[in-house]
Amino acid sequence: MILLHYTGMQDADAALELLKARGSEVSAHYFVFEDGRIIQMVQESRRAWHAGKAVWAGETDINSCSIGIEIANPGHDHGYPDFPKRQIAAVTALCRSIQTRNTIPPRRVLAHSDVAPARKQDPGEKFPWRTLYDSGVGQWVKPAPIMNFGQSLSLGDRGDAVAALQKSLADYGYGIAVNAEYDTATFEVVTAFQRHFRPERVDGVADPSTRSTLQELFANRGRSRTMAARARTATLLVAP
Ligand SMILES: [Zn+2]
Repeated sequence: MILLHYTGMQDADAALELLKARGSEVSAHYFVFEDGRIIQMVQESRRAWHAGKAVWAGETDINSCSIGIEIANPGHDHGYPDFPKRQIAAVTALCRSIQTRNTIPPRRVLAHSDVAPARKQDPGEKFPWRTLYDSGVGQWVKPAPIMNFGQSLSLGDRGDAVAALQKSLADYGYGIAVNAEYDTATFEVVTAFQRHFRPERVDGVADPSTRSTLQELFANRGRSRTMAARARTATLLVAP
């Protein structure tokens, strides 16, 4: 998989020094500066230490199966500025070349927060996943609009609807137990899902928009942008 991070430090050069430092317990395959410069730090075939305690699709040794990209951005603790266009263009081009060389399916281009929702929020809700998707990187669907009606599930709820939500999230790949209880872990996974797929409101509440975005995503899983477009065209052609 490809795992995207932000550095979470005010200064990009300091973040790079930390990643390069001997004895530092973190590393990544690539580093992308705000101005779009890319530095390769670890060969793709070698293990880097960027994921920490994480899980995706049942796999817990994420460092062994991922290529990590550190994107320079001060992050939520330091004002969380927008990602500059040049930087996103560089990240997109880099991901395209990585996924071509390594045959990475679209839904395995992920945020650190997707694989470690209890600990991490990077690269965060400002990261423009749609822009990457438009260039053939990753999985994305248009988020369902936020409505002020319909049933929401939130912390403390329990029952079949919660179990169904947990099952969908788990089937997509998130590390979540299906126990029919909207517990803290569920809250954190829903929050991570929203950061990636429904960033307009990140509150950990499974509102109707969040749930239908998940359904739509699920229906399109495994499809690249081209395949999704083809399927849409096919639907239009057979429609009466
Ligand atoms: Zn990270």
